[in-house]
Order: sequence, then structure tokens, then C-alpha cells
Amino acid sequence: MDSSLVNDMFGYSSVERPLWDEIQQELDDLRNVYWPTDGKELADIGMLVGETFLRCVGLIRHRINKELEGVEPLCLVTACFLFFLSLWVLKRLFTYNSFVPSNKRLSLLERFRRLPIIRSISASKMRPVLKDLERDLKKDYAPGSFKKVLPEEGHKAVNIVEEVQSYLDLSKADWKAGRVSGCIYSPNDIECEKLVLDVFHKTMKSNHLHADIFSGVRKMEAEIIRWVLNLYHGDADACGSISSGGTESIMLACKAYRDFAFATRGITEPEILVPHSAHAAFDKAADWLRLEIRKVPLDPKTLMVDTRKMRKMITRNTILLVGSAPGYPHGIIDPIEGIAALGCRYNIPVHVDCCLGGFIMPFLEDAGFGKFNFDFSVKGVTSISCDTHKYAMAPKGTSLVMYSSKKYLHHQFSAAGDWPGGVYITPTVAGSRSGAVVACCWATLRYYGRGGYVEACRDILTEARKIKDGIKEIKGLRVLGDPQATVIAFDSDIINIFEVNSRMGKLGWHLNPLQFPSGIHICLTKIHAENKVTETFLTDLRTIVEKMLQEPDKKVSSQAAVYGQAQTFSDRSIVKDLLLNYMDIIYSTEDYVD
Ligand SMILES: *Cc1c(COP(=O)(O)O)cnc(C)c1O
Repeated sequence: MDSSLVNDMFGYSSVERPLWDEIQQELDDLRNVYWPTDGKELADIGMLVGETFLRCVGLIRHRINKELEGVEPLCLVTACFLFFLSLWVLKRLFTYNSFVPSNKRLSLLERFRRLPIIRSISASKMRPVLKDLERDLKKDYAPGSFKKVLPEEGHKAVNIVEEVQSYLDLSKADWKAGRVSGCIYSPNDIECEKLVLDVFHKTMKSNHLHADIFSGVRKMEAEIIRWVLNLYHGDADACGSISSGGTESIMLACKAYRDFAFATRGITEPEILVPHSAHAAFDKAADWLRLEIRKVPLDPKTLMVDTRKMRKMITRNTILLVGSAPGYPHGIIDPIEGIAALGCRYNIPVHVDCCLGGFIMPFLEDAGFGKFNFDFSVKGVTSISCDTHKYAMAPKGTSLVMYSSKKYLHHQFSAAGDWPGGVYITPTVAGSRSGAVVACCWATLRYYGRGGYVEACRDILTEARKIKDGIKEIKGLRVLGDPQATVIAFDSDIINIFEVNSRMGKLGWHLNPLQFPSGIHICLTKIHAENKVTETFLTDLRTIVEKMLQEPDKKVSSQAAVYGQAQTFSDRSIVKDLLLNYMDIIYSTEDYVD
């Protein structure tokens, strides 16, 4: 290329003219053709802009070259290298401290709402809603009934038992009759209840923290873990812990993987990929452990997580892939094999959330409801959470988190070697924990045995299938996805589903409302099976839906309106504020005043 042309292109020949004059001139030219009427003028503008840009570059190049005239090239190269090296070192030094996951960042709207004036306006708007909420929550309490100070003298045991009964009588929900979705998983089995009481009595003073003193409960814990590992096809290297519940199990797994990823891959900005339908316990884990949580969309038809989308969302900071078997909202089993294959391909651990399905999934095949691959027999599955306080029918307070290898479990433990109180290690969140909870779980598992769980699974699934088929036959309702387990979710294209829920509530049914998409679900347990509620449930539902179809213009109840509207707030922090206030009301010992 002709060197004078290159010089001209980069504006060399014109740098003698003061630059600003030149740009001024160019801008004037631009202004003259500001309203182009044909393609030629547009092209002229393009040329002008391009030329101005090239001239600026030329000028800068000229200046820099002039400044650096006579500097040794080696010096230049070294300086550049050192400059970029120090940038990199600074980034390494500071990124861990400056990493703020998106769930910890305040949105622009939230910042705006924190301005005092906006805050007072929204507080005044919120007041009547909160008043309603408070009235609703405290309607069971008689005025002046809160005891606000510890009694000076101890009370007599008989009186206390009477008091306890009067407190329990405050609740009107008839859960023993099988009208509540999920919630209580142990059947009304007097013999088992007596057994658990007896075991509780014998073990209530034990504490796992002191494994040397309470060898018996320690042995029970190790045995429960091995039994459940066997159910999930764990091999000899598979291991686990007992936690206080599903949420803790999930948080422990996330903690283990966060620390594993840091130790082995140096990841300081960890991300977890969970299905949009995953349990809120993963949000809680992300919240507590400072993880970036990214929600993978579901297939709109099957409501299973879309593994193609999951693959696209994997980055080098991804420390965990999650699938549920089944998920809480719609009771749908995610494609665990597909997720595990991604885990193998990208060398990322995979957690299967079997909290709900813990004592259903391993028995589906024997109960005659099909074979699913979801456990450690699937290559790539590295951990599983399984609640014993759900379908294992043990009293509340136990769940398992299991790993395919000790290399993960070790990152779950917290060891304090230098504590003045002695060397100290705990496997889970708790320090002291009651051995009684574990002993009662151990007793319940032995009481039912494998056979008992297969039978329970068959009873519950039989009812679940009847309800799924029954809902499909009700005109106006639509079952969400094709649920294979114990949760059946449904919605309607014609009527307001939250109004259906509200009317079912008036008949004593406690179902669970869902959002994104709207719906309600019923989670069936042994209590529903033993009460044979299916027929009544379907009849009540059909009657309500038929009535609503005949009165399409009727206004929905306030409860239904609240559920429907809460979803439409684009500023989700308002919903969070409402929830905080809800918690304050739950803890309040003040009477409700109108
Ligand atoms: C219940 C549940 C959990 C959480 O368990 P908790 O025992 O309530 O803490 C997690 N995942 C799923 C799918 C669940 O249904």
C-alpha cells in the first residue's frame, strides 16, 4: 500500500491543523446533512463519521509515538507486561471480597423505594393490607390471652398439660381427617405413636455432640445412613449425614460444593444452576452461603427442567447442577439422567433433591408404578437429599444428605482445631443435638420396614392417580404436566384458580397455591389414603368448578385477589416486605386492635 495514502487515512498529514477546529468543521458538515432525504446523504454521513474517527486515531497515534520517541522497545514490552500482571494480581486479591451475588444486590426499584418519602407512602398503602393479615392470623386468640412473663413460681404438671391442650384447641384445621395437603406425613397409627413416645422417653437426654457418652444413638445414626444409602444404590465409598430437615440437607450440600470448588478449582464466584421449580431451600442456601443462583427454565409442556437450556447456562463458575425427584410445586420428576450426563461432561457435581420423594421414589418400582433412574446408580449423581420426616413417616426433625464420595462430605464438616474449648468438629449446622430425634427416626424405619414403605407408596400413589385422572375429567381444569408421584398440580384456562382454592378452603380443604405459573396443588400422604378422601375431594372440586363456570362474571374473593395480584407486582421487593411483616405478626404477643 502507498505509504502516503496510509498516512492520509490516519490523518497524519492533517495533524498540524488544530484537532478541534477540524472536528468542529466536520460537525458543521454533519449538521448540514442532518435530515437526509436519500441514500446518498446517509452514505455521506457514514463517510464523515468514519473519517473523523480515523483522524482522531491518527492524532492519538502521533502523540503517543512522539512521547515514546527514543524509548527502548524492551522497556516498553516489560512495562506492558508488568502493568497487566499487576492488574491481574489486584483482581485476584480483590474479587472474592467484591463478589456480590445478584440475590444480594439491590435493584434500582428497591433503592428508589428506600428513599424516606417513598417509604412513608408505601407504608401507608401497606397498612390496611397488614391490618387484614393481622386480623386473620390472630382471629383464634382471645383478647388478653398472651402470657408475657415467665411465671415466678413453677406450675403444676397437670395444669400445664391442660394449658397445652387449650393452646392446641386454638387451631381449627382438621388435619387428622385428611383435608390438608402435605404437611403431616405420619398416619394415625396408634401403635407407632406409642413406640415413638417410648423411644423418645428413653433417649430424650442424649446428645450426639458427645459421641463418646452416647454410643447407642451414634450407632443408630450410622445405621440409618447406611440403610438409606442402600436404598439409593450408594456404594462402599458413599456416605452422608443426618440433618434437621430438607432445608438443612440442601444447604449442607451447597456448602460442601462451594468449599470443594474453591479448594479444587479456586472458584471464588460460585454459581449454582437449579430448575425454576426447585425448592426455595436453594434460594436460602444461596442467600446464606453467598452463591449466585441461576434458575433454569422448564419445558412449558412437561414442566421438567430443560437440560438444553441448562447446558447453555453453564459457565466456568458453575459449581453445582440440581434436579428434583420430584419437585415440590408440580410434583414433576426432572430428567435426572440428562442432568447427570451434563455433570459428567463438564465435570460439575450433580445434586438430586429427593427431600419430598425420599421414601417414595425408591419404592415406586416395587409398588408397580414404573421405573425411574434418579439415584447413585446414575453416573454423575454426586449427592442426594432425602427427608425421613416426610414419607418415611418419622417425627419432624430428620433428613439425610448423602454423597457418592467422602471428598465432598469432608467439605461439609466444620473443624476447629485451635479452639480453647478443645479440638472440635461438627458435621452439620447444629452443635448439641438431641439423640431422641434420631432414635425415633431409627425406630420408625424399623417399625415399617421396606415392606411397609412399599405398601404405603402403593396406597398413596393409587389415590394420587385417581385424583390426577379425576381432575382431568373435570371440565375447566387442567393438570400441570404429567405428575408421576404424590403431588398433583392443576390450573384453569377459564376460571380463577385461586378462587377455586378459596372456595375449597371454605369446605375445610387446605391446598397449596402456586405462582409462575398460577395453580394449586394437593400433596397426598398416608393420611389421605387411610381416610379415603379422594371421592369427597373430587366431588367438592367438581361442584365448585361447575358453579363457577355458570357465574363467569362474579367477583373473586379478596384472598383469591391477593394471590393473583401478588404475582403481577413487577417490584418483587414489595412481596418480600409483606413477608417480613407477616413474620413480625407471627412473633407478636400484642392483641389485635381494630
Ligand atoms: C419439603 C421439601 C424440601 C425442604 O424440606 P424441609 O424439610 O421442609 O426443610 C426440599 N425440597 C423438596 C422438593 C421438598 O418438598
